[in-house]
Amino acid sequence: MTTNTDIVVVGAGPAGCAVARAYALAGQRVVLLEAEEQGKSRKRFAGEWLHPQGVDALKKLGFDAITAMQGRPQGRGFVVYPGHGESPVKLDYVEGQRGLAFHHGDLVDEMRQVVAQTEGVTFRQGVRVASVDDAGVTLESGERVEASRVIGADGRSSVVRRSLRGSGSHKAMSAMTGILLEGVKAPYPEYGHVFLGKPSFLLGYEIAPSVVRICVDVPLKYKTEMKDPEWLIAATRDTLPPVWRKPCEEQIRGGHLRWQANHFLARADYGNGHRVLIGDAAGHTHPLTATGITNGLVDAMELVEKKDFREFARSRRRACRVPELLSRALYDCFSKEDAFSQSLRRAVVSLWRNDQKERDRTMGLLMGNGRSFLTFAGPFLKALIGAWRGRDNTTTMGADLASIASWIRLPMAYAMAGWVRTKS
Ligand SMILES: Cc1cc2nc3c(=O)[nH]c(=O)nc-3n(C[C@H](O)[C@H](O)[C@H](O)COP(=O)(O)OP(=O)(O)OC[C@H]3O[C@@H](n4cnc5c(N)ncnc54)[C@H](O)[C@@H]3O)c2cc1C
Repeated sequence: MTTNTDIVVVGAGPAGCAVARAYALAGQRVVLLEAEEQGKSRKRFAGEWLHPQGVDALKKLGFDAITAMQGRPQGRGFVVYPGHGESPVKLDYVEGQRGLAFHHGDLVDEMRQVVAQTEGVTFRQGVRVASVDDAGVTLESGERVEASRVIGADGRSSVVRRSLRGSGSHKAMSAMTGILLEGVKAPYPEYGHVFLGKPSFLLGYEIAPSVVRICVDVPLKYKTEMKDPEWLIAATRDTLPPVWRKPCEEQIRGGHLRWQANHFLARADYGNGHRVLIGDAAGHTHPLTATGITNGLVDAMELVEKKDFREFARSRRRACRVPELLSRALYDCFSKEDAFSQSLRRAVVSLWRNDQKERDRTMGLLMGNGRSFLTFAGPFLKALIGAWRGRDNTTTMGADLASIASWIRLPMAYAMAGWVRTKS
């Protein structure tokens, strides 16, 4: 059997629901296909923090009820705890903007409800797309859905991306476990907390009143140790604020953990116009900077707004380049264990602590406000110089120089990639 439509969207996560709704509001007939059976999204540990830009996108696409829900925590920014008993540093969103926090399953369920009731959308759940070509998709059942455009909003292991580029394009970065604490408050309500420690960092924020999500990042070299609850308890105990320690320990001992792998795929390729990639299917990075859902929502909006596919791809590549670089650099800065990287971590925190402009600049870059590579390079150089001056004497100059070389390689690679693209 073959069905014909204008647009077929593979995947009803945040990006897929957003793009299906945006196309339908623009008068197109959309078929939205989701592999998960109804009710399964609640079980998934994934994005639960949305930047203000993402909140705006939700509102513009008519998901107002989600953003206006009473009691849903708003996000004012981040609080970074440097460790060693030092006082935290607050980074506020600029100009009083507000983000949003929620249970991932709630967001997806609510978006699916809205999109299912949108005129022009046919939403089918429990159907998996098996293969994709420029004319449409084939479901596992053998059924065909044909359309002038196929949107791959099918996440990190996208079948649409594989149909274009083959498999194996993304790289594992770390593992992360999610722990839910009920009946506790956050030290700074309405802020995302970043606790720097060893072996890596922890994130924590309220996703509902008195419900806190803790995310523990575990570098891959600890993949054997992380299976031991006692190791995990020791790794989190000294880093968490005292009020969260006991409930967190109980959750770990009780085995109430949800694990996810974190991967990296640069946002370089958005497809060919007939098969278009958005959201995590287009690229993804470590959740430390919480950009994934916001990126997917903005992709969806811009794809429909910009009639020309190449213009859409160019605009999104430019907008995502600096936030992606910032995310990778911060991840390395907060997780690398060599002495120079630790000095760099102290220098970054000190820049934020002492300079309002740098705090605003970091938050602006996260939001995609700096498209030029130079907006990243300036503060990065300042932090490198600060780290060099603040080195301790526990390592050799050779080891520090080797670490600096590895630090410079990443932004250089981005600068070169950007330069090659503008020339081509
Ligand atoms: C631990 C963790 C924490 C995170 N924290 C944050 C955060 O705080 N903030 C943030 O913004 N981001 C965060 N992220 C990232 C965020 O979860 C993702 O960026 C976001 O979910 C991507 O949305 P998406 O719609 O592109 O893809 P997904 O959410 O992955 O949705 C893809 C959908 O496609 C469906 N699908 C897949 N294959 C097929 C197929 N063949 N046929 C039909 N359907 C298919 C899937 O079932 C799924 O429903 C986090 C990620 C992780 C792993």
